[in-house]
Amino acid sequence: MQLKASADRLSRRGSKMQRGIRKRKLRSPPRSTSGLKSSGSRPDDGANAIANNYGPYPDHAWPTAEECRAIRDDLLALHGFPKEFAKYRRRRQMNGVLCGVKSEPLDEDVKDECEGDHESVLDGLVHTVLSQNTTDANSQRAFATLKSIFPTWEEVLAAESRCVEDAIRCGGLAPTKAACIKNILSCLLEKKGKLCLEYLKDLSVDQVKAELSHIKGIGPKTVACVLMFNLQHDDFPVDTHVLEISKRIGWVPPGANSNKAYLHLNRRIPNELKFDLNCLLFTHGKLCPRCSKRKENSRKKESHAIDCPLLKYCKASNQDADYGSS
Ligand SMILES: [Zn+2]
Repeated sequence: MQLKASADRLSRRGSKMQRGIRKRKLRSPPRSTSGLKSSGSRPDDGANAIANNYGPYPDHAWPTAEECRAIRDDLLALHGFPKEFAKYRRRRQMNGVLCGVKSEPLDEDVKDECEGDHESVLDGLVHTVLSQNTTDANSQRAFATLKSIFPTWEEVLAAESRCVEDAIRCGGLAPTKAACIKNILSCLLEKKGKLCLEYLKDLSVDQVKAELSHIKGIGPKTVACVLMFNLQHDDFPVDTHVLEISKRIGWVPPGANSNKAYLHLNRRIPNELKFDLNCLLFTHGKLCPRCSKRKENSRKKESHAIDCPLLKYCKASNQDADYGSS
């Protein structure tokens, strides 16, 4: 019954969320899971865990599948499914990748939006790069401006770097992001002879990681976002919001970094829950005054207080003063 209720809520409330950042903010990318080479990794950053199948915290018994499901349901009841991720969810459904709810109905309310959207895998990768350290609105604007000035990726590659920087300036870090985008395009042209990443759809997760992670400027977290959003794989990127919440509810030890959290959480969270849970934790981390990394900003944005449903999941050993106080 609870699962059916969740499915209904997903369909009904998909349009409720208006605020938020569509793509992850990408900071200090984590190392990835098995299959990735560990060159340059420090001994304690999770790389050693790649050599075995036990992850960095083999004795840490959280999260359980039951708690993942319970938190997914609680956050869904609070926020509804975030509108900015709805088209990706719909695309997963259309590709037969369900999201942990049996007899799940298709998200009809985003059907038109999804079918009218022709975001290629390469579009998704560039958009993820542009989403680093900025808001959803700014990265959307930067991407739209870039595409309006240079309708094809061939034109972006041929353009002067300065012109590409000008086009994406509203998204911040323009020189860095322009260099990264042009590097992606030149690497792709050199390797594949054309500016298209659709071939990644036919590859395994480890193969996709191997293909993308050698490109300068693309970190494992960018790869994880492309895997989850654009290739419909079950992966669980760990951004700053997800990391902070995971520490506080005891899913990872208090000292965990994003690298180790990525490895641990991808082992523990059931595949079918990863997509919904990731979108919901990310959204909650931005909107909840208690859980927001930037508490002051969050308080300004959120005029009404949220009764945080995650409080009851805090483990005593991980609970800090902020979370514990009311
Ligand atoms: Zn919260």
